[in-house]
Amino acid sequence: MLPDKRDKRFSELGEDGFTFACNPQVSCFNQCCRRLNLVLTPYDILRLRTHLGISSDEFLERYADVEPGQNGWPQVKLKMNRDAEGLCPFVSLEKGCTVYQDRPGACRTYPLGRATRKQYDDSLEESFFLVREDHCQGFLKGAKWSPETWTKDQGLETYNQVNDLFLPLITRQPVDADSEVIAKKMRMFFLACYRLEAFRALASQGRMTQLFDIEPERMQAIGEDDLELLKFGFDWLKFSLFGEPTMRLKDA
Ligand code: SF4
Ligand code: SF4
Repeated sequence: MLPDKRDKRFSELGEDGFTFACNPQVSCFNQCCRRLNLVLTPYDILRLRTHLGISSDEFLERYADVEPGQNGWPQVKLKMNRDAEGLCPFVSLEKGCTVYQDRPGACRTYPLGRATRKQYDDSLEESFFLVREDHCQGFLKGAKWSPETWTKDQGLETYNQVNDLFLPLITRQPVDADSEVIAKKMRMFFLACYRLEAFRALASQGRMTQLFDIEPERMQAIGEDDLELLKFGFDWLKFSLFGEPTMRLKDA
């Protein structure tokens, strides 16, 4: 996805990288953790609800707003407090982010923006730009960063890898003349991306293993490991919604 060039907050990243420091000493500490339009990816939700020790459904109920997003696919946003301040539910005014180790990818990435473009061989080319919010004092002093050192410092590698597997799903439209079929596709998408416990129950049913040729090691992994389950869900959706060869059917 490429940034909107008309948005004045976005600027090119020079070869020198950028200077940035965010810590409790900056005068704007926590100013950015309010009134956000913060879209959560499936991996963000996996990390947050694991951190909080609650189920996906409980997370969605307590912390999320669900609305139609890109191409009509259900999109999950972090629910800001419904008061004048509109604080993020996870911010402490004294201590900062209370879910810091598992904060969403967008919170980690700022002040960088990351865009990806698919190449002819299906690999992704990534590019970066700067996002400069008016209130943010972090640019005034601090260490020098490149996109690579920032990505590593903020623990973004796995976030980017998993989000890159998710992106091809939402950039395509669910095509079908029958609105019931579209609605069913939307439900499948929501289940596999955001309701992992319910999807695990479906994935472990006999029908899935009767239909698809799934290695025993993979079956075991998706029963035990949420990230493996999420990746399996992406493959299942790519096969079921778009006919990609991401799953193998068993011989009839
Ligand atoms: S999750 Fe943490 S870093 Fe992100 S907006 Fe909320 S408090 Fe701020
Ligand atoms: S506004 Fe910028 S410097 Fe201030 S707390 Fe947020 S990210 Fe850090």
